[in-house]
Amino acid sequence: MADGSWYDADIDRVIISEEQIKEKIAELAQKVAADHADAEGGILLVCVLKGAVMFMADFARALGHYGPSTEMEFMAVSSYGQGRTSSGVVRILKDLDRDITGRHVVIVEDIVDSGLTLSWLMKYLESRSPETVDVVALFRKPDAVKVQVPVKYVGFDIPNEFVVGYGLDFAERYREVPYVGVLKPEVYARS
Ligand code: 5GP
Repeated sequence: MADGSWYDADIDRVIISEEQIKEKIAELAQKVAADHADAEGGILLVCVLKGAVMFMADFARALGHYGPSTEMEFMAVSSYGQGRTSSGVVRILKDLDRDITGRHVVIVEDIVDSGLTLSWLMKYLESRSPETVDVVALFRKPDAVKVQVPVKYVGFDIPNEFVVGYGLDFAERYREVPYVGVLKPEVYARS
């Protein structure tokens, strides 16, 4: 293998480094653990595929150091929208595998932009009678403050730019990039 990674040439600049992500996740895990110290039955983490997959894996392991026990659930939803913006109309592609009645649910989200997907998801989960529902989002964009989605735990506020890496894709690629960055304009021109 040559030095460097295939994606190095496509990244314009790094927004959040691998090290910053790691530190922030430990911080978030400590907060969530402290707030759920008495949660009966532990925490039920709900990951929204696919963007949150890296965050889910690292966050769950960090939570293991500090918190009550956790269980993991995965949902897949498709949000009807134009290109890179979501409409808030959501279709479930993969539902929960179990009943969440009486459980302490924490939704693990990659990034909150318009907040429409999340606001739909919260209503959906709340209709299933959990004891509590909270949200931990690793990234938040400026538009998210306009909508009334109570995201209790936020990792980083980032600028209003399209980012990739750490689970976030462009056309299904770049999810494996270990940091979060912005692509060079010519990458979009090629696709
Ligand atoms: P919202 O409903 O909050 O507008 O959209 C949230 C979803 O849009 C995120 O879960 C993520 O999948 C996607 N998204 C929002 N901003 C970005 C971005 O900058 N890059 C990527 N790759 N996906 C994004």
